[in-house]
Amino acid sequence: MYFTTHALVGAAAGSTIKNWFLAVIVGLLSHIGLDMVPHHDYHQVRYGVADVLIGSTLLFALADRNPGFPVFLAGVAGGIPDLELVIGEARGFFGKKWRNIFPSHSGLVRHRTISTPLGFVTQALFALAGLLFLIR
Ligand SMILES: [Zn+2]
Repeated sequence: MYFTTHALVGAAAGSTIKNWFLAVIVGLLSHIGLDMVPHHDYHQVRYGVADVLIGSTLLFALADRNPGFPVFLAGVAGGIPDLELVIGEARGFFGKKWRNIFPSHSGLVRHRTISTPLGFVTQALFALAGLLFLIR
């Protein structure tokens, strides 16, 4: 899924937890869970950069509304595993190989994808649910 979707859902999950360490774990687990849901993925660095910028901006904007370190950390933990995909795409652009290590990227856990528009709608619904949960 997109970084923004992972960050919003991870932050929403983290908002239910007061312990920062558990919030990070929940954020990471939410990433695996979301990657198992059929979704669309982009494969171009420019979309990855835009996605990380949008997701990071939303996390910082929501940090004012949701005070507490665990919420922010869970959002970062939810989104950060996808940075290895952006790094991998960037290295591939320069002809270098990259091996993913996160379970839902390495093949250890099934990563399900579907094409647009349904795959995009799936992303939007999860991102919206996370956002609405955070601003409730
Ligand atoms: Zn992922």
